[in-house]
Amino acid sequence: MRIGVYPGTFDPITNGHLDIIKRAAKLFDKIYVVVPNNVNKKTLFSVEERMELIRETTKDIPNIIVDKTSLLTVQYAKQVGSDTIIRGLRMVSDFEYELQMAALNKSLDNEIETIFIMSSHQYSFLSSSSVKEMVGFNADVSEFVPNIVSTALMKKYQK
Ligand code: ADP
Repeated sequence: MRIGVYPGTFDPITNGHLDIIKRAAKLFDKIYVVVPNNVNKKTLFSVEERMELIRETTKDIPNIIVDKTSLLTVQYAKQVGSDTIIRGLRMVSDFEYELQMAALNKSLDNEIETIFIMSSHQYSFLSSSSVKEMVGFNADVSEFVPNIVSTALMKKYQK
């Protein structure tokens, strides 16, 4: 069975992430979408809120499992029986960071590969932080995130 791990902050999940998940779901029998259980990182949504939004927006894709972890990604992958980390690549600006992470993970565990799925062109400029910034200015983000995510974002900013 081919098992993939797609790690990310997903603060919150966007249509760009969902595009990667849907495309990866065709290549793997099972994919763990995993959020770091990292209390140090400042995020708008809590770990549980982010997981719930991922769960809701991927509920029609049967081979997706949403999880959180305190482990390093390579350790988590080993634990769930996966040898593949999936990452999305948008622009050249993603490349340096992603190359560094992939090299680091490879040095931590040589048996685990990182594979990259290129962003679809309509999402290549889209990030969770740009969506949050837009909502902060009361802009409509419904074309960038699923409805349930834009509702959750609006609630956060109304507080
Ligand atoms: P991280 O903090 O781990 O970078 P993110 O939630 O920002 O977490 O991203 C998780 C993964 O999804 C990364 O590989 C990132 O490059 C990718 N990604 C984010 N937005 C998009 C997008 N619009 N299209 C394709 N991949 C994306």
